[in-house]
Amino acid sequence: MNEIFLLKLGEIVLKGANKRQFEDKLRQNIRRRMKGYGNFDVYIMQSTVYVEPMDDMADVEGAWEACHSIFGLVSLCRCRACEKTMDSIFNAVEEYLGEDLDCAESFKVESKRSDKAFPMTSIGISQEIGGRLAEAHPDCRVDVHNPAYTVYVEVRDLAAYVHGPAEPGAGGLPTGVGGRAMCLLSGGIDSPVAAYMMAKRGVEVECVHFFSYPYTSQLARDKVMELARLVTRYCGRMTVNIVSFTQIQEAIRDNCPEEFFTLIMRRFMMEISQRIAKDDGCGALITGENLGQVASQTMQAMTVTGAVVDIPIFMPLVGMDKEEIVTIARKIGTLETSVMPYEDCCTVFTPKHPKTKPTLGQVLHAERKLDRQALIAQALESVEKVTVKYNDEPFL
Ligand code: ATP
Ligand code: MG
Repeated sequence: MNEIFLLKLGEIVLKGANKRQFEDKLRQNIRRRMKGYGNFDVYIMQSTVYVEPMDDMADVEGAWEACHSIFGLVSLCRCRACEKTMDSIFNAVEEYLGEDLDCAESFKVESKRSDKAFPMTSIGISQEIGGRLAEAHPDCRVDVHNPAYTVYVEVRDLAAYVHGPAEPGAGGLPTGVGGRAMCLLSGGIDSPVAAYMMAKRGVEVECVHFFSYPYTSQLARDKVMELARLVTRYCGRMTVNIVSFTQIQEAIRDNCPEEFFTLIMRRFMMEISQRIAKDDGCGALITGENLGQVASQTMQAMTVTGAVVDIPIFMPLVGMDKEEIVTIARKIGTLETSVMPYEDCCTVFTPKHPKTKPTLGQVLHAERKLDRQALIAQALESVEKVTVKYNDEPFL
């Protein structure tokens, strides 16, 4: 009944002249996300997004949950809207938050009045509502310095809104305002986290995955699709490009010195990803690389693998510790799937002693017998595009 969400904008408020464009994108993202939960009106006023269910059929719980994974919002308040009179405000607090007050030891009221025509000041509103609540809840004392519970009253243009403590939003910038990028998604812990991190900075993410059937199984592929599905909770609907990598890996195995296998393979991944990225309007690549984590993630190795690409490669995890990455993976719900033991194509034909400080000259020499462009063209022909969204059936 009269429940409405007030979602507070994050960094967008700082964006000056582009603010309008950011707000439009955010509103569009929220509208799209709310569609799955019924009929909601979504509008932005005074740096606040209003999300209002339009009928009793709306799944308010589902919509509220979904709001927590929309980028561009710093805090989320679930409110009761009421008329702008002191009686209505008091009654709304009693009905909506009365039980919370009964459970708390102490409380205060904090008010904001953005409708300057309202006849009372915010301090006046807090005092009067606080006084009436104190009478109604004798076991809950007023404590303005260190309250166990805070009642918020916001008197805005259209109505007054009452709510309890706000919940943290997903932060970041609205998906799409930062352009579009292609994430190299493996079945590991890191790359889904990398996709999430860049989506959080407003990037619309598309994915590419390389698989080496029969060296890697259908289950390994399903695992990656499931990871992609899980990150769409944050990134929104996403295309996954699945590329057959078997022939390239066999060609490398048959024609190149073993210590360079991984590096050469990664150079192919980068170049193919860039080709698909450019076709699809992506302006950058994203990887889960992390300095020093494995032999192919030294500065020298990154120089060699990055040399085939002329767009930026975003590595949001490059300076993080594994534990920090795992914490994010757990938070976004990908960890459990990532740690399932299905092999990745990187683990096929792994050299015993990989080169950790390669030079570009050495690698070019090591791959000289390969017809790179023919192999790349063949791989590009194998690309299968699959669209994934969060409410798809799980892949595993
Ligand atoms: P992850 O946990 O993401 O698998 P990792 O620590 O296992 O990373 P590598 O296997 O060296 O590291 O891979 C580094 C990055 O290369 C990955 O984060 C991912 O972006 C990309 N990558 C690796 N394997 C694949 C693959 N099969 N398909 C697409 N991208 C891949
Ligand atoms: Mg991996």
